[in-house]
Amino acid sequence: MNCPDCSQDLPFPETQHIGSISICENCGAEVEITSLDPLMGRAIEEMK
Ligand SMILES: [Zn+2]
Repeated sequence: MNCPDCSQDLPFPETQHIGSISICENCGAEVEITSLDPLMGRAIEEMK
């Protein structure tokens, strides 16, 4: 899948499951997996 923020390809680990978090190497966004089939995720915005 692609990063919701910058559309770069996200490298997810093989042990993907709902709730897994991947960090985009391009923009640093934290992306939480929300669906496995199809693989989908959403960016987690830090609360400040
Ligand atoms: Zn990104």
